[in-house]
Amino acid sequence: MPSLSRAEAVARRAAISVESYLVDLDLTGDGPHFRSRTEIHFTAVPGAETFVELKPARLLAVRLDDRDLDIAGLDENRLPLTGLDGRHILHVEAEMAYSRTGEGIHRFVDPADGETYLYAMSFLDEAQRIFAAFDQPDLKAPVTLSVTAPPEWTVAANASVAAEPAPGRWEFVPTPPLATYLVTLIAGPYHVRRDSHDGIPLALYCRRSLAAHLDADAEEIFTVTRQCFDRFHELFAERYPFGKYDQAFVPEFNAGAMENPGLVTFRDDLVFRSAVTESQRELRATTIAHEMAHMWFGDLVTMRWWDDLWLNESFAEYLGTRVTAEATRFDQAWTTFALRRKAWGYAADQRPSTHPVAPAEVTDAAQALTNFDGISYAKGAAVLRQLVAWLGDEVFLAGLNAHFAAHRFGNASLADLLSSLAAAAGRDLDDWAQLWLRQAGVNTLRVESVVDAQGRYEEVAIVQSAPAAHPVLRPHRVLLGRYGVQGRAGGVELDLDPERDGGRTVVAELTGEPASVLLANDGDLTFAKLRLDPRSVPAVRELLPSTPDPLVRGLLWGEMLDAVTDAERPVEDLVQLIAAALPAEREVIIVEDVLTMSRPLVDRYLAGPARHEALGMISAACRRLLLAAEPGGSIQLAAARALIGAATEPELPAGWLSGAEVPAGLAVDADLRWLLLRRLVVLGAAGEAQIEAEARADRSATGEQWAARCRAALPDPAAKAAAWEIIVRGAEHSNRIVEATAGDFWQPEQAELTAGYVPRYFVEQPAAALLRPGWTAERIASDAFPRYAVDPVTRELAAKLLGRDDLVPGLRRAVVDAADDLARALAARQRYAAL
Ligand SMILES: [Zn+2]
Repeated sequence: MPSLSRAEAVARRAAISVESYLVDLDLTGDGPHFRSRTEIHFTAVPGAETFVELKPARLLAVRLDDRDLDIAGLDENRLPLTGLDGRHILHVEAEMAYSRTGEGIHRFVDPADGETYLYAMSFLDEAQRIFAAFDQPDLKAPVTLSVTAPPEWTVAANASVAAEPAPGRWEFVPTPPLATYLVTLIAGPYHVRRDSHDGIPLALYCRRSLAAHLDADAEEIFTVTRQCFDRFHELFAERYPFGKYDQAFVPEFNAGAMENPGLVTFRDDLVFRSAVTESQRELRATTIAHEMAHMWFGDLVTMRWWDDLWLNESFAEYLGTRVTAEATRFDQAWTTFALRRKAWGYAADQRPSTHPVAPAEVTDAAQALTNFDGISYAKGAAVLRQLVAWLGDEVFLAGLNAHFAAHRFGNASLADLLSSLAAAAGRDLDDWAQLWLRQAGVNTLRVESVVDAQGRYEEVAIVQSAPAAHPVLRPHRVLLGRYGVQGRAGGVELDLDPERDGGRTVVAELTGEPASVLLANDGDLTFAKLRLDPRSVPAVRELLPSTPDPLVRGLLWGEMLDAVTDAERPVEDLVQLIAAALPAEREVIIVEDVLTMSRPLVDRYLAGPARHEALGMISAACRRLLLAAEPGGSIQLAAARALIGAATEPELPAGWLSGAEVPAGLAVDADLRWLLLRRLVVLGAAGEAQIEAEARADRSATGEQWAARCRAALPDPAAKAAAWEIIVRGAEHSNRIVEATAGDFWQPEQAELTAGYVPRYFVEQPAAALLRPGWTAERIASDAFPRYAVDPVTRELAAKLLGRDDLVPGLRRAVVDAADDLARALAARQRYAAL
């Protein structure tokens, strides 16, 4: 199917404007198809020739005004429209296919009770899997939806229900003008909770089998929703513009959530069925706030074309984090951003696939999908935070509000946003945009210090560098924090200006001051990798337990993780820091992130006895965390999970699974049981019989995914062969089952068993990636990459694959990134081989 190009979108925008969509869907019946009728009212310039998009299973009829068009005219997904002039009405009737990949209308049968659930996902250009559409973001129009479905179902959509004229029939009021990628609905025997706030009707939906879990958390979700609405209404002059606000938790969803106006869809893993940590609750809160931010940024004012995708995601990430931190109980959201989200951004920005936050031209929609990465989210948000530090909050918000007022219910580009912000600031932002938005690459800020015999600074400097591929130095506004074992000893605010000092900024204020640990981006205001001066590094171990500010501790941990990732320090240094300093940590975000983020480094940068020893030290740190942790608390759960994952012998997981020596307060619930079983499977201490028994006891969708993970992890040739079939062929399986299988196929402990699959990945993925739509294909290609085969041969195979010119964009991107990670792991192993 041809992906819509930027040039085609520009031409079509010039040729037509859309007045309205009337979409009528028949979702009755058990078959693989549903009936779709679309009526589009649009206006064309004289003589215009264009096309409407549709991906039908069977096209039934097309009528333009009063003439029937030949249905054979459908060319792949494009239906040509010719001889246009003035106002037209297009009728299209078709049978459409339900999907199992989370795109179009996804159909899911709940293994818990056999009930069927549907939801629509139109993003990015999948509205055409549901109805005939001019499927591009800048042809916005009101959508009036009607649905026929089993009368016992619940149906909800972007707009409110206008009428239910007969049982099993729902007619919705017209929406405000919407981009096609934002059209959604849910249909099925959904469980619902209702509330309202400040005149806005609120609802939560989930599958019936999750009802008790949603009910248990409904008050928390509504509270976060209310608090965020209040804060957004303080920040923005424009009130929430889409009437009601529904939040539906839906099965097998690809993204974290999708910002459909009036009906946000979330992955229903966010309805917690087992014990979770505060970090997971914080993630749900920031996701709620992120989607709410999109109601203004993305939904009210929409990008013109996908090259301004960052306008959506960077703003939603920035405002979602900010509003969560300011308005909800999750006041450490910026620490999570510093430690986890920015690490994602730094990693993406150092890869060969990096791109500017605001790329000058995204050629087509398929290309746009691969830009959903750490650049568009985390780097963009960090860059905006730097802009706020530079302009001041009042000016920034005045610019935003002017932007909303100027483009409400319309489209805007980067240039439009810059002009709104520049007008509010009274200064030109073109240079800033050129440096931060139009050029890729991350700077490193390295502190250098010279200390005299009395332990006082003779000179302190911050040296900025840039990667060879993107040699651009930038102005940064930073706070250079000074820390002693007694805590914070002061700080110097400064503007790094490479035009003035060539990238080496001497901090004269510190000359003569007693030496201490210097942190170059205290407060985390800019987007730059940090390096402590060498004399500060050993002091971090004592500093961490005595530093009260979690953000500072997060930055110090982040610096160590990044230095190890870059092979500037050995993994052993990180593991020793974990052993020395993590047991005293009381901020669950830091405990969980450090344990989670260090694990791939241990598994990929170390091998054999060195890895075994590192896992032993991490286990010891986890045991100390457990001893001091509050029973039933988040730190206990985070430490328990990491301890299970680091087990090299089956005694502990087998014991906990049978209820022996479980720490007081730790709930060995459904998900923890699966985690224990998976570890036993990897260690060869449990097999298919135990997996089958656990699956019988947990007949949920999550249970099915866990069983798929465990089966993929079995150290058994037949099980590996079966799992591989699912990964490279298995089109009959849902996106989630294939991802679960791919995610656990490779295990560091099973290098010998899976060695034959390493070359097969490179031979078989090009065809496998064609089986599924872009989003899922990229995810599976990434999960299935032989990430533990840290070997020059793997690297050569990857390079050879990338030499082909017939790879789909998602596969190419996945392999480029994985090969880059592999190169780092190889470099680290080579450098520290003697250790
Ligand atoms: Zn978003």
